[in-house]
Formats: sequence, C-alpha cells, structure tokens
Amino acid sequence: KKDNFDAIFLAIGAWQSRNLGIVGEDLDGVVSGVAFLERVGSGQPVAVGRKVVIIGGGNVAIDAARTTLRLGADRVTVLYRRSRKEMPASPEEIEAAEAEGVDIQLLAAPIRALGDNGAIRQLELIRMELGEPDAGGRRRPVPVEGSETIIETDQLISAIGQFPEIIPPARDGAMRNIPSTRWNTIGGDPRSMYTGHERVFVGGDLFQGPMTVVAALADGRKAAYSLDRSFAVGTVQPEPLHFNISKGTLDAIDREAFEAMKTSTRERMPELDTAQRVRDFTEVELGLSEAQAKREAERCLVCGCAAAFECKLREYMNEFQVDWRVQPSKKIHFQRVAVMDTHPNIALDPNKCVRCERCVTACRLFQ
Ligand SMILES: Cc1cc2nc3c(=O)[nH]c(=O)nc-3n(C[C@H](O)[C@H](O)[C@H](O)COP(=O)(O)OP(=O)(O)OC[C@H]3O[C@@H](n4cnc5c(N)ncnc54)[C@H](O)[C@@H]3O)c2cc1C
Ligand code: SF4
Ligand code: SF4
Repeated sequence: KKDNFDAIFLAIGAWQSRNLGIVGEDLDGVVSGVAFLERVGSGQPVAVGRKVVIIGGGNVAIDAARTTLRLGADRVTVLYRRSRKEMPASPEEIEAAEAEGVDIQLLAAPIRALGDNGAIRQLELIRMELGEPDAGGRRRPVPVEGSETIIETDQLISAIGQFPEIIPPARDGAMRNIPSTRWNTIGGDPRSMYTGHERVFVGGDLFQGPMTVVAALADGRKAAYSLDRSFAVGTVQPEPLHFNISKGTLDAIDREAFEAMKTSTRERMPELDTAQRVRDFTEVELGLSEAQAKREAERCLVCGCAAAFECKLREYMNEFQVDWRVQPSKKIHFQRVAVMDTHPNIALDPNKCVRCERCVTACRLFQ
C-alpha cells in the first residue's frame, strides 16, 4: 500500500532447509542441498568433495547426487532412512542416479559428523527398521540398536526437506493479519488463493509446502482469476467449477472396458549412455524418433468424449455452477454391450455412457 500497490500475490517458494540436528552439522563441508544446487545453477563456484554423502530421499537429494557426480566426486552415497517405496523422489530419477553410479543406502540415518581441523572427515550412521505407521500413514523409521557404523566423507549434503521463510509479525507488523499454518506456510482458500486479508493472495510452495511446478502453476492461475475478479466486481470470487467428470482412476474402473484393446507398452526414451552422461550436464534424454513418437501416439485410447466442447449439458453445468463432485456412486459398473452401427451415419456406443441422462430426458420430452 505504502508503495501504491493494489494487490499482492505471495509466491516466494520454500527455500529454507531443514537442519539435520546432528552433532558436527556446523563443520566445513556440510551444506544444504538447495544452497548447493542454487550455487551450481547460478554458475557460482562450488566446492565438491571426493567422497560425498547426501542425506534425504527426495528430488533435491537425487539432483544433488547426480550433480556432484558430474562435478567430479569419486563416490556419491545417498542415505535414506526409510525404504525405497517411501522415497519421495521420482522413481525414474532414482533409477537414473543408480545407473550413473550413485550408491543409495536405504534404512540408514546419520547420527554424528566427525571432523578434523574444523572440516568433516567421517559420518557415523545407524541402520533403521520400519515400525508402526505415523500420522501420515508412512511407517516410522526406528533405529536398530548396535548397528552404528562410520563411513569416510569429505562433504555432507543435507536434503531432508525445505520450508518457506516467513517473517514473524514481531519483525514485520504487515504480517500480523496474514494467516500462517503449523507447517510454516501461509494459509488461504485453496480455490481463490485468497489469504482473507485485504488484496493479498498466495500460491505455490509458500502455500502448499514443497510441491511441484505444475501445482504452483495451478495456484498462479487460480489466483490470477480471483485477483482479476476482485478488481472487476469488488469481491473475491474463485474460479468457477468446470464440469469435467470421469469414470474414475485407472485402478478404480472396470478393466473389462479395455479388454478388446491391444496392449502396447510405452516407448522407451533413448538416453545418453551412462559413462558419457556423468561427464557433464548434457541433456540425458535424446528424444523419441519419429517412428517411436507415432507408436506412442497410437497407444491413445481416445478415452474422452468427442462432444465435450459442444456439449450443452456441460455448458449449462458450467453456467449454473452445478457441483458435480457430489455423485451418487464413485464407481460406475461397466458392462460391455454391442455398439449399434446399423444406421449409415449414426453409431450408438452405450459403452461411452457417463450417466448424464440426456437421452432419458429427450425420450421423456419428445417421444
Ligand atoms: C532441487 C529441486 C528439484 C526439484 N525438482 C522438481 C521436479 O523435478 N519436478 C517438479 O515438478 N518440481 C520440482 N521441484 C519443486 C519445484 O521447483 C517447486 O515446487 C516450484 O518451483 C514452486 O514454485 P513457486 O513459484 O512456489 O516457488 P519458486 O519456484 O521457488 O519461486 C520462488 C521465487 O521467489 C523468489 N523469492 C524468494 N524470496 C523472495 C523475496 N523475499 N522477495 C522476492 N522474491 C523472492 C525466489 O528467488 C524465486 O524466484 C524441485 C525443487 C528443488 C529445490
Ligand atoms: S484421450 Fe488418449 S492421450 Fe488423452 S487421456 Fe485418453 S488415452 Fe490418454
Ligand atoms: S455428451 Fe455426455 S459425455 Fe460428452 S461431454 Fe456432454 S455430458 Fe460429457
């Protein structure tokens, strides 16, 4: 306001790294994954150890591992305290890191960094086992007593999570009315991205905690809509609901619907061979050939409705903001029936029915 801004969209991301909370964390050679990658990404000089240990199982840990390998580390070890199934990093990234020579040690956690002349030299770690599930449903890692071991290392990169840097109201009075959550994020309405205070909106990692690019983009789009509406009509209105229904996820719908279809596996993306790709940051994926791209496109099941963009029902649902999410049954039982194609121009395929009941209405009104 002081600087004549009418609205603010807060989206500063989640750049603070969680501390490991172990003795020796302040030794030279101990660095956070985000700080390390930020320096590499912005072209600043970075020190890279010969025997690097990375703590964490997410994308930051895997990115840091693959980066240190490319910058000349002799040995790169990732320690993750749960099992592979719980690793938050994308499976393809994990596989690629292993193919390049990264050693991923599961069910292992650091307990102490040991140094010499102020610099890290060794790391003491302990083996873990999975206990009862925690509040989030993931099995809690429990240390296995007596399983402590020491490994040599000259660089420890911690990548166990990030959170946004939020200035407390005591330091900046402007933050007094901005809601914050116990996850150290800014609170707001997930549909309009409105914080509830003046014209302040929020989105991305600052709102959701560390997520994905796609999730951040979606927040930005929602915030842009409600911001625009707030100027146009004077109140904050979220994006209207779009009538996009589905028969369910692949796991939930009846497989019978696909039985008549030929199964074809996904094309494998050609990649640089591993010896070559760890030398520098050249793009690993080489792109599909034309023939592969065509085969991949032919796998499309044409599962959507061809009438979706002209459909009156959909148009009215959007116009009258019918909340289609309240459905009587989540799963529509599928029973394959024959397609009627005896008419020269019209084919009727009841297998495509989504229970919109337009035909029932048409029958009742016009027959
Ligand atoms: C190493 C790493 C790997 C990742 N890999 C993937 C991946 O493979 N796929 C994926 O989908 N997601 C990945 N993510 C997550 C993804 O990057 C984030 O979810 C996404 O970028 C969040 O977008 P955002 O706009 O909320 O914040 P950011 O993209 O973090 O942008 C925040 C911006 O605000 C700026 N800023 C910060 N503080 C201030 C301030 N006080 N004043 C002004 N500007 C400020 C920052 O400089 C930055 O430009 C990865 C993240 C990391 C760290
Ligand atoms: S129409 Fe084809 S590409 Fe699109 S979701 Fe369905 S199967 Fe996939
Ligand atoms: S015709 Fe039926 S299936 Fe197609 S868009 Fe309209 S409601 Fe959806």
